[in-house]
Amino acid sequence: MPGYFSAMEKQGFEELLFAHDASTGLKAVIAIHSTILGPALGGTRMWPYPTEEAAVNDVMRLARGMTYKAAMADRDLGGGKAVIIGDPCRDKSEKLLRAYGRFVDKLGGRYITAEDMGIGEKDLDWVRQETAHVLGDSSQGSPSPFTAYGVWRGIKASARDALGSDSLEGLTVAVQGLGGVGSRLCEYLAGEGARLIVADLDPEKVKGAVSRWAAKAVAPEEIHARECDIFAPCAAGGIINELTIPQLKCRIVAGAANNVLQDRACGAGLMNRGILYAPDYVINAGGLIYVDSIRLGLKDPDEIRRVVGRIEQRLTHIFKRSAAEKQPPEVVADLMAEERLQSGAKAAPTETWA
Ligand code: NAD
Repeated sequence: MPGYFSAMEKQGFEELLFAHDASTGLKAVIAIHSTILGPALGGTRMWPYPTEEAAVNDVMRLARGMTYKAAMADRDLGGGKAVIIGDPCRDKSEKLLRAYGRFVDKLGGRYITAEDMGIGEKDLDWVRQETAHVLGDSSQGSPSPFTAYGVWRGIKASARDALGSDSLEGLTVAVQGLGGVGSRLCEYLAGEGARLIVADLDPEKVKGAVSRWAAKAVAPEEIHARECDIFAPCAAGGIINELTIPQLKCRIVAGAANNVLQDRACGAGLMNRGILYAPDYVINAGGLIYVDSIRLGLKDPDEIRRVVGRIEQRLTHIFKRSAAEKQPPEVVADLMAEERLQSGAKAAPTETWA
């Protein structure tokens, strides 16, 4: 048995729960990192992990990230996450998802689930059959449009800080990944007159972007190295690493992907190259804000967008503090999240971030 208790102790985890259902073959792990600020909210990922250890490592890393994301998004929420071990294309079924829903229900609301890779709105409808502790099912809608809106506003804050203006007109933005978030982000960027470079593993999505926004298509493995003002990673994590940092030809890295930096050293690497980095869990919090708003009974999309738009001030605040303290922005974001966690403070009004 790997040292899960020591990992929990080191990283401040409250609970790590393993679920097995013999009749469906369900193997799931739920990690509740923190409930200091409120119930632990975080999506369920379904993935064919090569080992059980890989699944546990992933769920713990993601759950901890959710605590920081919620704290920095100024929500009264804690951080948690779940993984179901399996291939979403082959192993997903109503029975399996309902068995998973019963497991979530046993936690009595300490953990609230939502979508993540391999689990979509329709899957959550099955989970909802067994538990009320679900957000973002098909009756509530996908959080992606709100994530994209927040990323766009965060890109504007980044442009203001690094390039002197928040106007994106005439700037070149390289968008990696044209999924639920990336494609909507392109819509905002093109609407403001930005030039787009795009890449996706799916050629149909690329074709659509070329015809819709006159985007320039490049190969997925090259997009990070293209000459541009802003590189927006909206696909998998880890794209900023020791191999790619020297290849970047941008002034800003700001996108939706989770865990953009492969490790902590990469943030310093970007700073040393004079590239501004918008911390992932701050800029991509729009979806979390959306699902939490639904939880609280707020349904007006304009009002939710107004709250999501605060990401712009939040990033500006982080960038200023980063410059003043000569620390990379993601280090400052972590410190600010930890300050809020230590104080246990309830959500503050926007004005404190100005
Ligand atoms: P998605 O699955 O809808 O889209 C991802 C897209 O990226 C797909 O079109 C896929 O083909 C493409 N892709 C995968 N690997 C690629 C590569 N190497 N190069 C180019 N394209 C590649 O996912 P999404 O919901 O748009 O989320 C995108 C990212 O943002 C993910 O990292 C996700 O964790 C993060 N995120 C999403 C939300 C949300 O509300 N959906 C919220 C916060 C963070």
